Amino acid sequence: MYKVAKIIFKPRIAYSEDMPDTIDGVLAMLYKNGQISEGWSIEKHDQTYVANVVTTDDESLNPKYYNQYIVKETENFDIEIKIVCDDTMASDSCHCLKHSSYILAVEPYMSSSPVICGDCGKEIPLYKVPCLYEEKEHYSILNFQKTYQAVLDLWFDSLSDRFTKRQITDFDSRLNQRGLDIRSELELKVDKPVYYLLRNPIGGWFEFEKNNKSLKICPKCGKELTQFDGCYADKACVDCRFAFINGEEK
Ligand SMILES: [Zn+2]
Ligand SMILES: [Zn+2]
Repeated sequence: MYKVAKIIFKPRIAYSEDMPDTIDGVLAMLYKNGQISEGWSIEKHDQTYVANVVTTDDESLNPKYYNQYIVKETENFDIEIKIVCDDTMASDSCHCLKHSSYILAVEPYMSSSPVICGDCGKEIPLYKVPCLYEEKEHYSILNFQKTYQAVLDLWFDSLSDRFTKRQITDFDSRLNQRGLDIRSELELKVDKPVYYLLRNPIGGWFEFEKNNKSLKICPKCGKELTQFDGCYADKACVDCRFAFINGEEK
């Protein structure tokens, strides 16, 4: 379960004006390392700074998950973690010990992980996911998530409808090409099948039949879709590694 937590920073050195910026930088690094969600506040007290954050579970702020940047930036602080309570507005994350498949699926308005466990259908916090390419942080995956959500937002607002709809639903759009590249790289790193959630061409109530197609065959290879073997998605093309959600077809 997601938790509300406090990270208490006790400086080992004299106060300097750039200390709040340093702490803000540490929190940004924890976000890019998949240890906290985006959005935090920092309280200043006499001898300490207290950051209020949302983290994925009791374990996720353990320093053993720090990357080299976080280790370096926190060397002038003693850090204490206090888990305050469950975050009642958040869903639970995956606690499976092994995953037989993964799904890369960007949800609208969600800042948590876009990597889904194919077995339980819940998200896998990024601190449990290997970094891609030669990166030391989850730069590519988080950047892709933000870009995808920006295009989804424009589509939902009916702005530049033809462009945004194509970017989201056409497997060959530039946006989906970028996502599929991340999917391939993730599959190399985790050595298990990684599927890419391709949203179906839904279009609201306008010319309903024409704009709400039910996909039965893979838009890329033309083969019949099969049932997805797991949770979260309903159908899949195993060869092309696409996953689809039925509920979006109607
Ligand atoms: Zn799971
Ligand atoms: Zn296919």
